[in-house]
Order: sequence, then C-alpha cells, then structure tokens
Amino acid sequence: MATERETPGGDSAPSGARGGTDMRLRRGARSATARPQVLTGARVVLPQGTVENGQLAVDGKYIAAHPPADAQVVDVSGHWLVPGFVDIHNHGGGGASFSGTPDDILTAIRTHRAHGTTTLVASTVTDEMDLLVRQAGLLSELAEQGDIAGIHFEGPFISPCRKGAHSEKLLRDPEPAEVRKLIDAARGKARMLTLAAELPGGIDSVRLLADHGVIAAIGHTDATYEQTVEAIDAGATVATHLFNAMPALGHRSPGPIAALLEDERVTVELINDGTHLHPAALELAFHHAGADRVAFITDAMDAAGIGDGRYMLGPLEVEVSEGVARLVEGGSIAGSTLTLDRAFKRAVTVDRLSVEDAVTALSVNPARLLGLSDRIGSLEPGKDADLVLLDADFELKGVMRHGEWVVVPQLA
Ligand SMILES: [Zn+2]
Repeated sequence: MATERETPGGDSAPSGARGGTDMRLRRGARSATARPQVLTGARVVLPQGTVENGQLAVDGKYIAAHPPADAQVVDVSGHWLVPGFVDIHNHGGGGASFSGTPDDILTAIRTHRAHGTTTLVASTVTDEMDLLVRQAGLLSELAEQGDIAGIHFEGPFISPCRKGAHSEKLLRDPEPAEVRKLIDAARGKARMLTLAAELPGGIDSVRLLADHGVIAAIGHTDATYEQTVEAIDAGATVATHLFNAMPALGHRSPGPIAALLEDERVTVELINDGTHLHPAALELAFHHAGADRVAFITDAMDAAGIGDGRYMLGPLEVEVSEGVARLVEGGSIAGSTLTLDRAFKRAVTVDRLSVEDAVTALSVNPARLLGLSDRIGSLEPGKDADLVLLDADFELKGVMRHGEWVVVPQLA
C-alpha cells in the first residue's frame, strides 16, 4: 500500500509518544486534505454480520456509504476489518498514567491507540480528594478536546476489605456530598464511578450518580447478594472487573457475582489477560451474561505497551514481572499490562469466542454504555472512521481513527 506517512509500528507506541513537547494529539488536521479511501477484499465485521471480500469506504473522518469517485483503493485481502476498540476502564500505558501530567496522559492515549483502542475512558485510582478533584479538572479538558471519552473514578469510595491496589488509608465512605465533588470537578465529563454500595451512603450515591447520567459501577466491594441487588435496583449498571476485588461465588452466599451476572440491566467488565481470570471463569460469565452484556477492559497501568519494571499506581509502588503487575507491598495484582488488541486475539484464539462476539464485547457494548453508539462502536456509514485491521492470525496490522491511519498497514 502506498503511504506518505511514517510507520509507527504495530507493537509499540508511536514514535515521539514519550517526552514529546506537543501538548495536543493530531486532530483532523489532515482529514480535510486526505484522499478518500476504499479498503477492499477484507472480512468486514458489520452489525448485520461478517461480509467476506467486503469493502469499506472512508471519506474524511467518516465511514461512507459508497466510495467517492476519486477514492484511493487499498487492498487489504486476507485481513479482518473490525470497529475500533473502546476501553471504559484504563489507568495508563506507555510508561505514563492518567493520574499524571498532560504529557503523561497523551502518552498513555497514544500507546493504547497504537493497539487499536480508538476510544478510551481515563480511570483514576484512589488518592487524596483534592488531588482527584484537580486531576478531574485536567482530564475534563482532554475530554473537551475529544482526546478521551470521559473520566472513570475508581476509588476512593471502595471497601477496605477489597481494596486491591488502592491505598487503604485514603479510602472513604461514599457520602453523596463527596461523590458530588468528583462529579462537579469533572464538569460533565464523569462517565463512571466505581463504588462499594454496601458502605454508608452507598445506595444514595448510586442514585445520585444515576440521576447525573454517570454510570454507577459496583466494584472493590464486600457486598452480599442482597446488598448488590439493592444497588442494582437503585441504578447501578456496571460490574467493575467482575470476579476481581469482590467475594467469590459461594453456593450459600452467592455474593455480588451472582447478582451482577443474573440481572439484565448490568454489563460486566472482564479483564481478559489470562492472569486476572481463569479461562473457565471467563467462559462462565460470558455464557451466563451473553455477549451483549460483557465489556472487555484492560484496567491497564503504566507498563502496558512497555514491559517489566518498577512503576507507580497512584501513590503505590508496583513491580511488573513477566507482564504481571503486583504491589511491591502485599503483592496484590495491581492492574494489568493488557492492550485491547491482545484481549481480542485471546478472545478468539484461547477463549474460542466468535469474532463477532469479540467485536460486541470490545466495541459495540462499551460504545453503548458510553451513549456513543450513534458515532462509534460499529462499522456503519456516517459513523466515525475508527477501525482496526487484523491479519488472519488476529495480529494488529493497522489502526485508523477519525479517518487517519494511526498505525499504517504495511501490506505486501
Ligand atoms: Zn482499575
């Protein structure tokens, strides 16, 4: 394929991702002049099913119904063409975190984009309230510019019994007034808040979040089955990384897992990295909830897209060894080093999900949860030209966002 752009490469962050001085990601600047394209010969995963030897036209930032007359033809035979991935739970990547500076945040965004995540919600971790308020202000600016799709607050309103990699001394009860501080600080860009609804103020906070159009997510919780049912009835609609940081499924005390899995109003997040979940647990959740109620997330921390070493997760030190992140103190699993291209490949090659179900869990459902289905999440005319090109082995070969190649495919 002819291209006038340098190749960032599929397995690492784009060049210049670290330590760059530009404070803005490129946005639309070349779209106005970019020639329309038509990608041909691929297996295209459309909402109505997969089309063999299909084609997809891109005009400017959008998917077009028909290829414009002057469109450049790009032969992508032998590849899969799927919608760009949407990650609703992600703390960072490329050596940087969403709790950091604007440069850090952009580094993390670029890293995940290079792995197919074209829409991303930035997750914070438990910290001092005034620091979270300040970070929310910063992230809201990036959301305003369209670099991220909003903010997910994970903590501080979580259970000390299920704190995972959150700093225990900074945890607090979900008093609605405190929750409200974070919603206000995000200036309309708060998309989700994870809380343990069994704590004092929990149910009122779930109602407050639902009233403000913020997803109330149940997680890092020690709730019983009954308490979880009450939270769902109050408006909670997401399970934060189901199975992780909550009581196990017991036959006399089914706990939050059974309540979250059985209720059709709830979408369950799953971290499909082979470390957080046994394949059988993933299969159980997927089969019980069905593809329409699963969102694959990364829950990624700084090491995603980079590798082993010492990192910080909020105020806590983390050691990453063989791709598994653990707190230096206590050894809790501390987020993942996952990227969604790997989650996709694992879903279809290890978990034996259909490509269509993987697309549903990686793009369709998270886009719907964010209320963005009219723009993203599927390959349809008029929607943003956000797409991922995978080879026959489901290795990422290209990423397009808003009609521009983020990872330029190198085709033979
Ligand atoms: Zn997380």
